[in-house]
Amino acid sequence: MTDRIPAAGTTSHDHDHDHAPVSPGIDTAECPVMPGRFVAKAKAEARGWVRRYAGRTYWLCCAGCVPKFDADPAKFAVA
Ligand SMILES: [Zn+2]
Repeated sequence: MTDRIPAAGTTSHDHDHDHAPVSPGIDTAECPVMPGRFVAKAKAEARGWVRRYAGRTYWLCCAGCVPKFDADPAKFAVA
């Protein structure tokens, strides 16, 4: 067992903001069912809130949006 002290000057920002409000970003997507609502892609994928339609991937913001999207994906899909 050795105690290792992190080298000075090496900063590792590896935050996981899973509890923070979701805001637009590279790891988030706007819900097509509820425009203006953003969801973390990883979260949507973990919950099965992802749909492929017409060659695009859609991340839905909540379980309630899944059946709405499935019922009429063309209505929500981006042209
Ligand atoms: Zn939703």
